[in-house]
Amino acid sequence: MNRYLLFLLLLLTHTTYAANHCVILQYHHFSDKTPTITSVTPKQFDDHLDYLQKHDFTVMALRDVALSLKHQLELPEKCVSLTVDDAYISVYEEAYPRLKKLGWPLTVFVNTEAVDKGINVAMNWKQMREMSQNGVSFENHGFGHIHMIRMKPKETDRQWLTRVGLDIQTAQRRISQEIGIEPTLFAYPYGEYNPSLVSLIERMGLAGFGQQSGPAWPDANFGALPRFPMAANYANMKSFITKVNTLPLPVTKAEPIDSLVKPGHWRPTLELQLAPGSYSKNNLRCYVGGSDKVDIIWSETKNDSVSITPQFDLKPGRHRTNCTMPSNRKGRFHWYSHNWFIRKENGDWYAEY
Ligand SMILES: [Zn+2]
Repeated sequence: MNRYLLFLLLLLTHTTYAANHCVILQYHHFSDKTPTITSVTPKQFDDHLDYLQKHDFTVMALRDVALSLKHQLELPEKCVSLTVDDAYISVYEEAYPRLKKLGWPLTVFVNTEAVDKGINVAMNWKQMREMSQNGVSFENHGFGHIHMIRMKPKETDRQWLTRVGLDIQTAQRRISQEIGIEPTLFAYPYGEYNPSLVSLIERMGLAGFGQQSGPAWPDANFGALPRFPMAANYANMKSFITKVNTLPLPVTKAEPIDSLVKPGHWRPTLELQLAPGSYSKNNLRCYVGGSDKVDIIWSETKNDSVSITPQFDLKPGRHRTNCTMPSNRKGRFHWYSHNWFIRKENGDWYAEY
């Protein structure tokens, strides 16, 4: 092999993780009158779009991102995809006109019962049909917006799977009937999933999306691809700029695969196996529930394997372990996130919100 080829090969292997990825953003409301926890203000959204435009980001439709990742096609260097959960009216009133003007695509995950019931904070099918003519895709977010992994008392595994399968199929049918295009993507309500639900989504031929953060890349789990939630403090410009510029942390295996924590195991350990490579291991930072009181231990026997454990008990609720590592590109971080669903001591679920 001549020296030029060797250099090219080294360059390619060194830049693979950085090159092929896309940052998927997840919004809900675009309003200053809705709950902060699920909202960005129209002004904040303007700032987000301005930044993407001024810094030459390519805003891709989520279907195209999923297909490109699946078939290992090259994505643009600065790839972002915009998604919304829940089909709230402010999507039609605020986000849609702005994106239509820019000619940028948007993907909306619809929980169809809210639309069929005509609740006043939801868009109606007529508005959504108009949007679908102008760059907006409508995908599956289930029918009743249920906590899918919560089994009912005395429900068997089979009964549970039938019930959640029906909920997903109902939304699939209603969106196909009203919009005329069958969904190929699914977003888990509340970002809650388990391995059985992921298999179901894959058997239905859908790509799944969670609410754990991090850029999507070809080796990510297609049954639960990551998205960065954009609301409240996560949506300020500093946080937005960091996130749209993230690179994947090349995790080839994460354990446990089930985010549901057994009662009593209040300090769950996350084990990550990274692809072979050179990492700035000492600079891996992990936070659990926003706290850096976390033990990060690199394996002495397995290369590039690390275990991450909070030094404190996690309380009932949804939590995330977020890990970042500086990349060799100035100011840009590798990012990976993992969900934890912690029930109460007696096995009861935490309050819904
Ligand atoms: Zn939702």
